[in-house]
Amino acid sequence: MKRTLFLFVLSIMAAPLLGQTMDTVKIRPVKVSDNIYMLQGAGGNIGIQVGKDGTFMIDDQFAPLSDKINGAIKAIDGGDIRFLINTHVHGDHLGGNENFKKLGATIVAHDQVRERMSKEQVNKLMNRTTPAASPEALPIITFSDKLNFHLNGDDIELVYLDKGHTDGDIIIHFKKANVFHTGDAYVRYGYPFIDVSSGGSFIGFLSTLDKILALVDDNSKIIPGHGELASKADVKTLRDKLVDIKDQVLAALKKGKKVEEIPALGITDKYDAELGKGFLKGKDFVLIAAEELRALMPTKK
Ligand SMILES: [Zn+2]
Repeated sequence: MKRTLFLFVLSIMAAPLLGQTMDTVKIRPVKVSDNIYMLQGAGGNIGIQVGKDGTFMIDDQFAPLSDKINGAIKAIDGGDIRFLINTHVHGDHLGGNENFKKLGATIVAHDQVRERMSKEQVNKLMNRTTPAASPEALPIITFSDKLNFHLNGDDIELVYLDKGHTDGDIIIHFKKANVFHTGDAYVRYGYPFIDVSSGGSFIGFLSTLDKILALVDDNSKIIPGHGELASKADVKTLRDKLVDIKDQVLAALKKGKKVEEIPALGITDKYDAELGKGFLKGKDFVLIAAEELRALMPTKK
């Protein structure tokens, strides 16, 4: 495997055996608003809101990075971490749970995140099995639809997005600051990963992007699951490309093409230079889309 691809797969799915490569990771703070920051290191973007009520934290990357992350939070004047939100179940977003719980954080996530963490998880695409998490790493507050926090002068709403990247994806909305953290329901690494093994869905991913677009406005600042800060226009651009891909895959299936013939049709050629930089190539992505779209079509008698 090429080194870049190897590192990318690690950064996405991740692994406890990575202690070594984590030594060189630096945590980079990006100021988003008066008291909200994005922290980038390895794995998913972290969101931090600081203030007199204590630090509100979103996602925590990998366990070997917890000390560095905590140091970066202290450096931006964050006090003790009061709440830690998990945007979804992947290890590159919640690998530090146990460490932050020891520091006193109360961990919060969607019901499905706790449910999936409590059991062994098998990822077919990555050919990877993750054992059940330690009880110390589990969220102790879970919710199904919406949950509100009122901290540090802002009203913060957690909204369930439904099945998309996984089946436990939420968006976090800082209402006064007009800042959002989307988890991996919106990412900037290329073709988005639809984790079907964790209840994700291609059609669902499109509808979660529509839900995000309905919540944000032109002035919103969006912390994506991976990549640099984004705007509503960035989300809309990705959504339009994915809808175009869906329409073309569906049209080909309706013409009688078999699922396995779809990747060779060149449907994503015009997007590959930009979106094919990640670990999912256009051919992989259309195959995920085609399998799901075919299953939804009426079967021929
Ligand atoms: Zn993810």
